Amino acid sequence: MDERRVDFERELEDLRETFNSGETRSRKWRKTQLKGILMLVKENEKEIFDALYQDLGKHQAEAFRDEVGILLKSTNYALAHLKKWMTPKKIQLPYVAFPTTAEMVSEPLGVVLIFSSWNFPIGLCLEPMIGAIASGNTLVLKTSELAPASSSLLANLIPMYLDNKAIKVIEGGVSIAEQLLEKKWDKIFFTGSPRVGRLVMAAAAKHLTPVILELGGKCPAVVDSLETAMDRKIAVKRILGGKFGCCCGQACIGIDYILVEKKFAPILVDCLKARIKKMFGENPRETNSIARIINKQHFLRLKSLLNEDEVKASIVYGGSIDEDNRFIEPTILLDPPLNADIMNEEIFGPLLPIITLKNIEESTQFINSRPKPLAIYAFTNNEALKENMVSKTSSGCLLFNDTIVQYFVDTIPFGGVGESGFGRYHGKFSFEAFRHEKPVIRRGFMPDIWFRYPPWNSKKMQF
Ligand code: NAD
Repeated sequence: MDERRVDFERELEDLRETFNSGETRSRKWRKTQLKGILMLVKENEKEIFDALYQDLGKHQAEAFRDEVGILLKSTNYALAHLKKWMTPKKIQLPYVAFPTTAEMVSEPLGVVLIFSSWNFPIGLCLEPMIGAIASGNTLVLKTSELAPASSSLLANLIPMYLDNKAIKVIEGGVSIAEQLLEKKWDKIFFTGSPRVGRLVMAAAAKHLTPVILELGGKCPAVVDSLETAMDRKIAVKRILGGKFGCCCGQACIGIDYILVEKKFAPILVDCLKARIKKMFGENPRETNSIARIINKQHFLRLKSLLNEDEVKASIVYGGSIDEDNRFIEPTILLDPPLNADIMNEEIFGPLLPIITLKNIEESTQFINSRPKPLAIYAFTNNEALKENMVSKTSSGCLLFNDTIVQYFVDTIPFGGVGESGFGRYHGKFSFEAFRHEKPVIRRGFMPDIWFRYPPWNSKKMQF
């Protein structure tokens, strides 16, 4: 463990000084930095692919879809909308306020801290930075120690492309993270587990620092008894793509488990098995289309989820593991015990439990008996079921008939609710996450109304 005691005072003073100079408030500075991110990503695409391969064994196509491509899109979107976002918004006032004008002015918060996790170790660093920069803040980025190649790549590249006086990268593990949390920040943006999220919030409370917590949890996918073969085929592709095809299931919005009617379960299992073979081949160990488990500790955690006898007995596909290569075969489990760890902890890996219900309508009750997830997915053509899901469940996002696409759209806010976190970002929501919207009210000295002021008497109540 990293036990260094580090003095960040100089860095923080630098950042505070830069912020106080007002330089980061100008649109010119913000644009230059956003363009810097664009260049960083474009000019180092190969290095980014290499780092993601080293850390997670991600295929370039997956790395482009989930990190590089998204970052280019998000940065271009911010550049295209920056002027509009920064423009003060007129406030409509009642006649009684005449002659007053008022507007909402966006101001940066100051010096902010961004904590990232390891599963999208480039994307989850730069995506929130786009918002912090667009709003005119200075910042510290704390990369994840569990993705060392990506972390050190960013630590090398960011000073080459972005303003060093305003943007600093600090690498390190728990001890460094704890020391950073002792400092006073104007906002903390944290991506990680609910366990550490609680520590972050407690530390922030000491300084009354606002936080955004982008956490995880168990995202369910409700699969209705789809009638046409085409709907089933597409649903199964999207389920597998949103599970095994997205960082090997190590994604906060990846499917954690499936809910399905008992009578439809055998059909679903058969379709999943057949499609897994098409996506990852007869011997998935040889495929380069599944990322690897991040490290030995997570590998052993996943292995132990499978170790209980009743859980093992519920495996209907896969289950083989290769410790040397940190590889776990895409694995499907049918009705593992609900009190087993696999049904109570966030799985964050390539294990997919299917839980059968008598009626699909029971799915809302099942979901509601557990912490609120970051996403609920539901594959159905049944409008009544859809309406039930909308009105009777709560989640960061609800998506019908697809998975993970909510992450790719700038106009959809991304964030959790309850145990899956709070606060939101992406597109304009990223800009809003790091600004204070300040009402600025302008009045003249006349007219000046006499009944506003003491001494009070009953005459002054008649107006
Ligand atoms: P984590 O909570 O272990 O670590 C996140 C960050 O916190 C890292 O930078 C780490 O160095 C730091 N940290 C770890 N222990 C700490 C401590 N004791 N004190 C202070 N800081 C500490 O999470 P992780 O393993 O990196 O990521 C996996 C989790 O993140 C999952 O729960 C996943 O669902 C969630 N996640 C959420 C999102 C989202 O956008 N909502 C995205 C990715 C991952």
